Amino acid sequence: MAEHVLILGTGCAGLTAAIYAARAGLTPLVLEGAQPGGQLTTTSEVENFPGFVHGVDGSELISNMKAQAERFGTRFAFDRIERVDFSGPVKKLVGGEATYEAQAVIIATGASPRFMGIPGEKQYYGGNGVTTCATCDGAFYRDVPVAVVGGGDSACEEALFLTRFASKVYLVHRRDKFRASEIMVQRVKSHPKIELALNCTPQEIVGGADGKVHSLRVKNAAGAVQDLPCKCVFIAIGHIPNSQAFTPALEVDENGYFVAGDNTVSTRVPGVFVAGDCADHVYRQAITAAGMGCRAAIEAERWLAEHA
Ligand code: NAP
Repeated sequence: MAEHVLILGTGCAGLTAAIYAARAGLTPLVLEGAQPGGQLTTTSEVENFPGFVHGVDGSELISNMKAQAERFGTRFAFDRIERVDFSGPVKKLVGGEATYEAQAVIIATGASPRFMGIPGEKQYYGGNGVTTCATCDGAFYRDVPVAVVGGGDSACEEALFLTRFASKVYLVHRRDKFRASEIMVQRVKSHPKIELALNCTPQEIVGGADGKVHSLRVKNAAGAVQDLPCKCVFIAIGHIPNSQAFTPALEVDENGYFVAGDNTVSTRVPGVFVAGDCADHVYRQAITAAGMGCRAAIEAERWLAEHA
């Protein structure tokens, strides 16, 4: 028999959707994918999720959300959806482990940060000086130099945000032309704390005996190698939304993010909803993902009441 609601993803969006759908009596099935718990599990402390005066460990927040969803009857399974058939009234989703049928589907598969693939990147990622989220981790690097890699709006935004904490921010871009909007570029160029390292390609993230990052090694266009002293490297070279399995059934924009209706969660397929970072390239916060998950569950519940 088809599920009432199938939810894909166990980050903030998927788990919030599960809590709401379960409390509505829909006994949702939630599929955990390649990164259970989503991006929050890769950050140590979350200081900006409302309700936690002294912050909360990212993994703890996620496991609490999961327990809360389970308390109301959510079921969990591990699988990764590979392709879908949304042509009929019952949606079919083919995973590596099984094929699923559902009346309503909430896709909250998140987005994976793009990495450079250089030495040191994986080694120091997650608390030791390599991160992909300035909003999450910037406040841990007060009065020390940091580096941001990238030449798009994200990199400029992160660099500007980090000037609140860091003593100096290197903005490292492999070209001298930015992909970012002109206004962001001007802000970055005129900020006294930001030093541009243009035409510089990162080669290696270098750490010390303390197991923490000490510098970012870059090579300039002339081939000269230089170590930029920094305590953290913020990688902002784009995200890859996990939407590949759902195209062309669902519409995505030129960067692969799901295109949603005015309520930010509905898609062109009735009964299929999207939430969180797979559908949001602007805010990308735990709290905004949770908000979208809530909306998606309420919309799914309404849709089921009218159509199922
Ligand atoms: P993006 O625009 O795709 O920029 C990625 C940047 O990373 C590019 O400058 C690229 O260099 C660089 N890059 C890619 N791979 C690299 C590698 N392996 N090593 C070094 N550098 C690498 O990504 P984004 O900045 O995340 O923005 C994504 C979308 O979200 C854009 O449409 C952007 O406008 C939007 N956004 C908007 C806002 C806002 O409006 N406030 C904020 C953030 C993002 P090249 O330029 O040489 O390719």
